[in-house]
Amino acid sequence: MDSDSLVASNIRRLEGKVALITGGASGIGESTARLFVRHGAKIVIADIQDELGNSVCQQLGTQETIFYVHCDVTSDSDIKNAVDLAVSKYGKLDIMFNNAGVASLETVVVDADNENFKKVVDINLFGGFLGAKHAARVMIPAKKGCILFTGSVSSVLGSSSVGYSYVASKHALVGLAKNLCVELGQHGIRVNCISPYVVATPLSSKGMEKEKLESVAHKAGNLKGKVLDSEDVAEAVLYLASDESKYVSGINLLVDGGYSITNPAFHMTIQNLMS
Ligand code: NAD
Repeated sequence: MDSDSLVASNIRRLEGKVALITGGASGIGESTARLFVRHGAKIVIADIQDELGNSVCQQLGTQETIFYVHCDVTSDSDIKNAVDLAVSKYGKLDIMFNNAGVASLETVVVDADNENFKKVVDINLFGGFLGAKHAARVMIPAKKGCILFTGSVSSVLGSSSVGYSYVASKHALVGLAKNLCVELGQHGIRVNCISPYVVATPLSSKGMEKEKLESVAHKAGNLKGKVLDSEDVAEAVLYLASDESKYVSGINLLVDGGYSITNPAFHMTIQNLMS
């Protein structure tokens, strides 16, 4: 392909592809749906926020290009239904973006609510597992496909201010993706994670004003002069969903401005040693 055709094809990098996005009614999932539509994909948004999900679909296209399905990711039958609907309506499933998730703040282990722990792991981890399972069911016969998960910086870091269930579920998602990458490679299926730093969405904001949250995140972040938003994460998802990453599988792409490789305490330790 010459460079002009490459530039032209890059304008719609998902032309002809079909994507299912869980948690697509809001935040990172919604931004990804918007970007995917711009790049020519047909989309199924699967979520439990029916009104919001339907309204996003109405804004983004017609039933010919995007539709909403109620889908609780912890329900095998709901996920099966969403995947089967994508295939029956659009003929195939190329991209399964397991993005739905919830936050959790049980940061004192002895006080932790056991049922909340199970609930968070059920949505964040088991939900992703079910999504991958049903996507693989339809992708294996096609001998191609792309399965993605939204991890988090909490997939590689522990923190005393992030809930046990959240950190455990996000670490485990990376393990799940690695095993899927190994098993499904023989079928031409790629499996990857995208792990963002803090993004102002309903999940992270918890009632805090967007500007305030972004300012706090910026202050604590490694990369200065920029604020991570859901559109930036969507761009990373687009890369991993498109053929431009056709040989990339098994990675956890940190979209964190280098946050996860820094340790400010180390800097302070060295400074104290030198003084
Ligand atoms: P969000 O709240 O805007 O979106 C999450 C979506 O998931 C919502 O639409 C919600 O209805 C849906 N959802 C929740 N439970 C569900 C279920 N059982 N079945 C189906 N859908 C369900 O938040 P977001 O920040 O866009 O979160 C998307 C993903 O990004 C999550 O996996 C989250 O852990 C991850 N993440 C977020 C941040 C951040 O700072 N916002 C950082 C790193 C990772």
